[in-house]
Amino acid sequence: MAVIEIKQVAKTFGSFTALHSVDLTIADQEFMVLLGASGCGKTTLLRIIAGLETPTTGEVWIGGRRVDHLPPRERGIAMVFQNYAVFPHLTVFENIAFGLRMKKMDQAEVTRRVTRTAELMHIEQLLKRYSGELSGGQRQRVAVARALAMEPDVILMDEPLSNLDALLRLEMRAELKGVLAESKTTTIYVTHDQVEAMSLADRISVMNGGRIVQAANPVEVYRNPAARFVGSFIGNPPMNFLAATPAGPGKWQVAGQMFDGPVAAAAEFAIRPEDLHPGDTGLPAEVRVVEPLGPHTLITASVAGQPFRAILDSTLLPAPGDLLHFAPAPDRIRWFDPATQTAL
Ligand code: ATP
Repeated sequence: MAVIEIKQVAKTFGSFTALHSVDLTIADQEFMVLLGASGCGKTTLLRIIAGLETPTTGEVWIGGRRVDHLPPRERGIAMVFQNYAVFPHLTVFENIAFGLRMKKMDQAEVTRRVTRTAELMHIEQLLKRYSGELSGGQRQRVAVARALAMEPDVILMDEPLSNLDALLRLEMRAELKGVLAESKTTTIYVTHDQVEAMSLADRISVMNGGRIVQAANPVEVYRNPAARFVGSFIGNPPMNFLAATPAGPGKWQVAGQMFDGPVAAAAEFAIRPEDLHPGDTGLPAEVRVVEPLGPHTLITASVAGQPFRAILDSTLLPAPGDLLHFAPAPDRIRWFDPATQTAL
């Protein structure tokens, strides 16, 4: 059992606060992705869990044991980082065996584990090759195999696919998901790539400015952003936001249209671009740019002077200057508090 508990972990570098009192519990065998823009603190949080960085305050627990005072090797974790250190002068076999030899494991067990993880990563035919002779994708597999061979309770990964080309990234992403589900480890995976996060995670922790803004499963994060930031960060293009003016209890006027909404002092209206279908009535959108992208048509428009995007069926090709109307389904509309920026 490797539940990971992060309790009020904060980290400052001089006068700069990289993490503000983060609380997060990752369940046994869960695949947790830390997602956020560059500088949001995700690598710092991962390094604190790994023991490569000490928290300024707070505690880290792994498998019911407090570990924040322990060195990395005593935490029962394995790591795969962006610049995975695969030793070029060693064979693939010896690279995978590296950590096991450090533990002075007997040869039969080393062979068993190396063979098993190499098969899992589909590199069993490469075991005798020197790692310097491998492609980037193959080296990446060796790095993951070496981590899995340790049979760790926890695997920590920091942008492990970022050095690969787009196609290989897609392939490895699907493979990693399968392999890690099978290996029954608890995984924490850092990325700034939202598609990768959505594809891999049981839960995503969306980070911003050293805080976790929302931790939930990918569908929840996408459909029900807990904060405006989440809606504006996830989705390509992201959510549309429009100003709303109160028009009676629970009634709001948005771009001249009436909507039912929350009972609140102030609210902002939000809708995802793919939840918009043009009709005869609704929000008036003046088309500015039309991008026929193949599977769909992306339009950039202006609604009451505010930027607005819609993803339309590819058969629809409006022209710049056209006026479209959108009446979004009520269950797709979200509302945010303009003061706290959180969901209403
Ligand atoms: P990236 O995707 O670019 O790696 P990140 O979200 O992983 O970003 P971190 O590496 O955790 O970000 O860094 C968070 C913040 O802390 C950044 O502003 C960074 O400049 C700062 N920081 C990180 N390490 C140090 C350090 N050793 N000294 C001073 N500041 C640091």
